[in-house]
Amino acid sequence: MSVKSFPISDEAINAFAEKVGTPFHIYDESRIIETAERIKKAFSWNDGFTNYFAVKALPNVNIVRMLGSLGFGADCSSLPELIIAEKAGITGERIMFSSNDTPDEEFRKAYELGAIINLDDITHIDAAERAIGAFPEIISFRYNPGPERTGNAIIGNPVEAKYGVTHSQIADCYRLAAEKGARRFVLHTMVASNELDGSYIVETARMLFSLVREIREKTGIMIERVDLGGGVGIPYRPEDNEVSFEQLGAEIHKLYDEMIDYPLAVSFEMGRAVTGPSGYLVSRVRHVCHKYKDYAGLDATMADLMRPAMYGAYHHITVPGKEDLPHDHMYDVTGSLCENNDKFAIDRMLPELRCGDLVIIHDTGAHGHSMGFNYNGKLRHAEYLLRKDGSIVRIRRAETVDDYLRTQLDEPEAVI
Ligand SMILES: *Cc1c(COP(=O)(O)O)cnc(C)c1O
Repeated sequence: MSVKSFPISDEAINAFAEKVGTPFHIYDESRIIETAERIKKAFSWNDGFTNYFAVKALPNVNIVRMLGSLGFGADCSSLPELIIAEKAGITGERIMFSSNDTPDEEFRKAYELGAIINLDDITHIDAAERAIGAFPEIISFRYNPGPERTGNAIIGNPVEAKYGVTHSQIADCYRLAAEKGARRFVLHTMVASNELDGSYIVETARMLFSLVREIREKTGIMIERVDLGGGVGIPYRPEDNEVSFEQLGAEIHKLYDEMIDYPLAVSFEMGRAVTGPSGYLVSRVRHVCHKYKDYAGLDATMADLMRPAMYGAYHHITVPGKEDLPHDHMYDVTGSLCENNDKFAIDRMLPELRCGDLVIIHDTGAHGHSMGFNYNGKLRHAEYLLRKDGSIVRIRRAETVDDYLRTQLDEPEAVI
């Protein structure tokens, strides 16, 4: 059971929302720091431990910088994400570049930053070398276990997944990379997404530790770091199980002691588990409509949070000041896009809503604002950070119509 609380009093959030306008995302700095510290402590038994924060989860330089100052690295998969890491002061091997279908300029930028380049395919050994004009000293491969693992609903079955090199290719990948001049080797995988069963993640560690041994036996190559990827889930529903970092750390430690006999660094690329529960989308009820069903139309849309529309994902909703009223009204909570799946919740039991009520949509700190888009001319809204001292700072302004129109040319431009 997780309790869905909000870190700001009803009065204060009402006053703040009145001042800056809704909707917006707000992130709780104390809670992000506390989570990062818990993750570090749970794996402090491992000398080289780090979490490369998956920048795509919350690509705001202020957040990435804060996590960098706590010792986290950055997991990037595109040029703009590499630039965010660089701006946040995270460079060199504190960047894991886990891309796929990678353009040449991204290989070059990652190399220029000294990032660990995580290759997604055996053909990318040549592709990266060609793009860079050299071969990196440190190289990583993303492993796809195929039928060996079952995957889960969001990421899908590994056999169907586009990512990673197969079991029959993996030893050859390291051999080929060594022939090209690589001297240091990392092994990566990512087989789950939003996984709430900690034992699945422990099994991923077992799989990688055993593969480390197999690669050493087949090639003589000693992997120096394993990266278990992201995918640690969070309890979006109040009744969901919460993955215990402490238990995860202890169980992986035990396996490590059983299976590994040299200093092998362990890392993750958790995004969701680091910032997800620390983010909230604050929105206002614009209209309450009674049709064949009852609808609460918000001033936010799926451009602010598309997980419910995209995956049917559950996000908890609370109404400040009405938490203790009976939840005896059923609503579809919608946005204003001309798409019928623009809904934050379907058939949700809530207290009776009135136009102008504030609503808090929980757990939007990862894959929330970052998945936004501009379909229907919807603009993306601002991001704020609730500081440890209780002050609130803006860390991204809202988009304006000018931003939206910036790439359009008033007059067609001759090209050929
Ligand atoms: C998305 C992704 C992550 C982060 O996943 P979370 O579910 O946010 O922990 C990490 N690594 C890679 C390669 C990813 O694609």
